[in-house]
Amino acid sequence: MATKVFLQQLITNPDRLNSLVDEAKELAFQYGILLRTHETPNSSEVVTYAPFTLFPSPVPKAALLQALAVQTHINTLVDKISQDPDFLEEALAGTIKADEFTAKLFGIYRKVQQEAQTQSIVMGLIRADYMVDQREDGTSSLKQIEINTIAAGGFGVSDRLPVLHRNILKSVGLLEESKCIQDTNRTPGMSAALAKAWELYGQQRAVILFLVEEVQLSKLSHRSIERELWNRNVPVIRRKFEEVSERGSLDADKRLFIDGLEVAVVYYRYGYMPDNYTDQSWDARLLMERSLAVKCPDISTHLAGTKKVQQVLARPGVLEKFFPDQPQVVEQIRATFAGLYTLDMGPEGDRTVAMALANPDNFVLKPQREGGGNNYFGEDLTRILQEVKSDERRAAYILMDRIRPRTEQNILLRKGLPLKLTSVCYEIGVCGAYVRNGQEMVLNEVGGHILRTKSIEHNDAGIIGGVTVFDNPLII
Ligand code: ADP
Ligand code: MG
Repeated sequence: MATKVFLQQLITNPDRLNSLVDEAKELAFQYGILLRTHETPNSSEVVTYAPFTLFPSPVPKAALLQALAVQTHINTLVDKISQDPDFLEEALAGTIKADEFTAKLFGIYRKVQQEAQTQSIVMGLIRADYMVDQREDGTSSLKQIEINTIAAGGFGVSDRLPVLHRNILKSVGLLEESKCIQDTNRTPGMSAALAKAWELYGQQRAVILFLVEEVQLSKLSHRSIERELWNRNVPVIRRKFEEVSERGSLDADKRLFIDGLEVAVVYYRYGYMPDNYTDQSWDARLLMERSLAVKCPDISTHLAGTKKVQQVLARPGVLEKFFPDQPQVVEQIRATFAGLYTLDMGPEGDRTVAMALANPDNFVLKPQREGGGNNYFGEDLTRILQEVKSDERRAAYILMDRIRPRTEQNILLRKGLPLKLTSVCYEIGVCGAYVRNGQEMVLNEVGGHILRTKSIEHNDAGIIGGVTVFDNPLII
């Protein structure tokens, strides 16, 4: 690739490199590719650029198209799982004995299930993540890493990165390459689903409540969504769990109110990790789940995104159950699955333990956690599995084949990070949005793709955690 040759030359010419990097950062400011800083996460006095790669990374066209093509089926699948209490009960039975967080979520799920159904409008804003697995024989294949069903981010401030990368390529004379970058305008599509759910709720004065955290590093991305909604005359408010707990209430019809405002949709940008909750927040979550407001996601859709559910879906016959008359859809989804193995108690789980301990470098051990930095690789995998292998604690995890993505060269730009040519790998994310009203899917869309890239020094990932940066496919 011409960009690879160019990078090799660039790195030997510090003056040229620095001036190109300055140009890239200045473009980032111009295009609103911004992030608040870890030092002052709640202030807009000082902001920095959102981390990104200097150049786009080469991505095989077939892999990207495959990921985009399967997304509406993934949307449907997530929705179907969320509507299947028997499936969720069975899939998570072992997990909730071993993992307190999943058990707490499941407790809320059961409580809500016991009450009469309040809301028939259901929606999801999800992101399915993939890596391109590079096999030894030279072939490659798209493999799903996970599906995020709560607080799935990555769109917002990064939407104009394609324009930035195109500019950078042009400015160094790589004109042909600059034509291999597609625009992807994710925020309008994702916001449209929120607006649709709000419209179906049918109260013009009701608001969309963004449930947010105390430390608001990603606030500028939220603002991109808020702006789309305000443009459609959909009012938005931001509240924290504590505020909902102190000032939120349900009326006799279970309509949710806060500060005198009726809430049509609760959009969770927080609440995906145990640390996000105090006893008070658990009460607030239950209050919102019991309410008539549309939840994005509701508790069952949240549970549908657990790693355990992902593993159960890979079992023979399970996808067929969700798509009984659509073998081609089953095939399309299953083609993206890596090997996934149960660690529930029993002979099958015993075999998983033995297999993992015999070849720890071929697998990843995953707890029921989101947000990056929670998985175990190599020696850590061995250590944790040795610790929990003989009792029910092991059911808190699943085992997955380790994907070996192709390595590329790039320069990662992040505040404070020294400039250097880095061996990196990328993850493709595909945004999906759906809204269902009773039996009818009224919206089922692909919201575009997101590329995120990290140094291969890191096994795990995360933009906010400072490992991953935004990137963009240079389609090859
Ligand atoms: P989280 O919900 O915390 O984001 P993920 O399943 O997405 O958990 O894993 C976090 C990161 O770990 C991924 O972004 C990827 O970089 C790495 N990872 C996850 N699963 C695998 C795998 N099977 N093979 C290789 N790397 C993986
Ligand atoms: Mg992830």
